[in-house]
Amino acid sequence: MNAIDPTAGLTVWAEIDLDALEHNVRTLRARAPKSDLMAVVKADAYGHGLLPVARAAVRAGAGWLGVAQFAEAFALRDAGITTRLLTWLSVPGSDFAGAVRRDIDLSASATWTLYAIAATARQQGRTARVHLKVDTGLGRGGAYGTDWPALLDHARLLEAEGVISVVGIWTHFAFADAPEHPTVLTQQDTFFEAVALAEKVGLRPEVRHLANSAATLVHPSAHADLVRPGIAIYGLSPVPQVADDFDLRPVMTLRARLALVKRVPAGQGISYGHVYRPEVDTSIALVPLGYADGIPRNATNVGPVRIGDYRSTIAGRVCMDQFVVDLGPQGSAVAGDVVTLFGAGPDEPTAQDWADATDTISYEIVSRIGARVPRLWRGGSEDETEGGVEA
Ligand SMILES: *Cc1c(COP(=O)(O)O)cnc(C)c1O
Repeated sequence: MNAIDPTAGLTVWAEIDLDALEHNVRTLRARAPKSDLMAVVKADAYGHGLLPVARAAVRAGAGWLGVAQFAEAFALRDAGITTRLLTWLSVPGSDFAGAVRRDIDLSASATWTLYAIAATARQQGRTARVHLKVDTGLGRGGAYGTDWPALLDHARLLEAEGVISVVGIWTHFAFADAPEHPTVLTQQDTFFEAVALAEKVGLRPEVRHLANSAATLVHPSAHADLVRPGIAIYGLSPVPQVADDFDLRPVMTLRARLALVKRVPAGQGISYGHVYRPEVDTSIALVPLGYADGIPRNATNVGPVRIGDYRSTIAGRVCMDQFVVDLGPQGSAVAGDVVTLFGAGPDEPTAQDWADATDTISYEIVSRIGARVPRLWRGGSEDETEGGVEA
């Protein structure tokens, strides 16, 4: 153990428990024992830090990594991570050459993407690996309806030419958070019909994949060859209305030190707009985190916090850099004391509590924690070479 307090001198920080992350990856692998696992690490690993999280996920047995943007995939490869890697959001003009050169799998929902990939592969004298995406009812990415057989025909021709290899067929669910929704099974059936059509025209994909965290946890029939959990590897439930915690452990804990504690009289309006007024003489504390750090502004008067043994909620408006907590008339905290916004401890508020309080989902709470909040990575079965803090 390190005797030096890694939070010394820090105003705010997010502790990232890589042991918990590895535990969650192993738990999810056990849930889908016949499938490989793609750890979804888009959006800076949902705010947890791309590289340490990707390395921990691979150590825990993830055979694949998945990201939305090319830049995220490039960052993984350029850091020396050689794990199979899929990136799925491109536009005309995206750096397909950079992706193919870095051995990154690409997704195509439309023929223009296939031809852009093929052109770059031809130029480099390589075969690009492609996952064809079918829209089975999400109504977002993917080829829809009769666009699917057309996409297959083009893919088949380009594969015959040797410039692409269709290694995957995939889709995404519309109701990630509603395991009983009838569209889940409809989409699954549509998906396997789309796969059958691909096989009929001679394509032989290595991996069929459709399961996000919710389907990985509650829909074994959707596991297929590869599951793609995101939120669950961070220890947060994709289906919070289901009482089961699925043996997941929250990975991120968000803390700050109090910047100021002072007395104010009953009736004094607190923070912008005075939307909170204590009824009695009280102590208030200033927390140096605000909406520029990802604290939702609509956490005003409702965001839960814990200071020592004291549970409270935000008093008044969340500002850009700070908010206030009412410590109560007997409040004994002092400047420098640690405040926990959310974490994993039994008495700590959770990211889900913040989501409930602000009418959103836990995904948004953790992924919006901003760049001003340093991440402190702890644990993990190997030492982190980055050495802890990254501002
Ligand atoms: C974000 C994402 C996932 C992971 O979803 P979770 O609900 O976080 O498990 C899987 N697949 C795709 C295409 C995604 O965009």
